[in-house]
Amino acid sequence: MTTEARNLFDAIVIGAGPSGLAVARELRHRHGITALILDRAGAPAISWRTRYDNFRLNTTGFLSHLPGQRIPIAAGRWPTREDMVAYFDSYVERQNISLRFGCEVNRIDRTADRWRLDTSAGEIQAPAVVLATGNYRTPVIPPWPGLGDFTGEVTHSAGFRNARPYRDRDVLVVGAGNSAADIAVQLADNDANRIWLSVRTPPHLVRRALGPIPSDVFLELSARVPASVVDPLIARTHRLVWGTDLSVYGFQRPPLGLKATVEQRGRIPTFADELVEAVRAGRIEVVPAVKSVGPTCVTLADGSSVTPDVIITATGFSPDLEGLVGHLGVLDDRGNPRGGFAGHLGDGLFTIGYGIPPNSPLRSIRRHATRLARDIARYLRDSALARSEAPQPVSETGPPRVRGRRAAEQGRLR
Ligand SMILES: Cc1cc2nc3c(=O)[nH]c(=O)nc-3n(C[C@H](O)[C@H](O)[C@H](O)COP(=O)(O)OP(=O)(O)OC[C@H]3O[C@@H](n4cnc5c(N)ncnc54)[C@H](O)[C@@H]3O)c2cc1C
Repeated sequence: MTTEARNLFDAIVIGAGPSGLAVARELRHRHGITALILDRAGAPAISWRTRYDNFRLNTTGFLSHLPGQRIPIAAGRWPTREDMVAYFDSYVERQNISLRFGCEVNRIDRTADRWRLDTSAGEIQAPAVVLATGNYRTPVIPPWPGLGDFTGEVTHSAGFRNARPYRDRDVLVVGAGNSAADIAVQLADNDANRIWLSVRTPPHLVRRALGPIPSDVFLELSARVPASVVDPLIARTHRLVWGTDLSVYGFQRPPLGLKATVEQRGRIPTFADELVEAVRAGRIEVVPAVKSVGPTCVTLADGSSVTPDVIITATGFSPDLEGLVGHLGVLDDRGNPRGGFAGHLGDGLFTIGYGIPPNSPLRSIRRHATRLARDIARYLRDSALARSEAPQPVSETGPPRVRGRRAAEQGRLR
């Protein structure tokens, strides 16, 4: 068998995160198509394996599963990092997903009738390719003036594991999302000295649950009600929920309503039970946005300054797709694939998991994976390529599959 023949597959999925796993599962179980997932990491769902200690899902476990397999009830309402990693490993095994690890895709090009993938393991070709490399591929640290002169430590939230290294140190956490909140609270609980939380755009602060009902369930229940109706109601109950006006503590009123923020900016609310408690107790101080950085101090938007030993930036990620597909003209001006959260960019190039998710991200992945798999199957069936070439299952044409949890844990490289 020639190298080319051995490396030709019906569908290649790039990325073994939740998006890639979900699409591969739906292709196999609903359409009988075995897709091969390539991932540069050594195990599936690597972004979950490397999340900080004490991480808990921000969306309820009951709504956050992938197609065809629920998160075990034993994981409770708010599954931990360990619960989620065990769930994804079990998903790979039970859903019979084919994976090749340690394989980074550097660039994708179109040939006459298929896609050619330039990978760290050589060239691979397929008529259909699914980009599922994630919204959170590359950490972004804002280019604050003077940052390079700062003599202390600067780290992105992606590199934060736990609060131990920060004991007795003064830390500025920048950001107002769930990672920033979790990190600030962990620092407060583990004896960091002073902790400042720098907030540029005021977040929507919500409790994880109202009574027995998780907050994200409320959002799901109001899915069909327009933001213009839901948001004034949420705003009216805000003070009741927190028992006080949080602007006293530095959390100003967000510019847009909660649902409008999710829909228009893709920013989910910040679950803030512990954060608000720590701010009220004076263990975390909310300060304005960062304006510039000097060798030992950080100047804030109101002209005041703080003198941290460490800056932890929870300032987001970029999908960083320019090198992979930028030359194909398929990215919008924000660097996301055109066509929304999931779609077909044309000629059998599909995407999932980018831009603003229409619901909470994992739920959006579950919903869109099913539709996307159907579109891929239809494309393969309808395209001249699929008609002229008999489908070749990966098991016969490709290298031996890495299947199941044990293989995944070993992170075998093929
Ligand atoms: C800190 C944090 C907490 C979150 N919490 C929640 C939550 O509680 N609920 C919720 O619904 N969502 C949450 N999300 C959002 C979302 O559900 C996750 O980010 C989810 O992992 C996205 O899945 P994905 O498969 O699209 O991307 P990823 O999980 O990022 O997977 C992408 C995969 O692609 C691989 N890859 C990237 N580039 C290449 C390449 N060139 N070649 C080969 N492989 C490549 C990566 O190694 C990775 O395995 C959270 C996100 C973050 C960052």
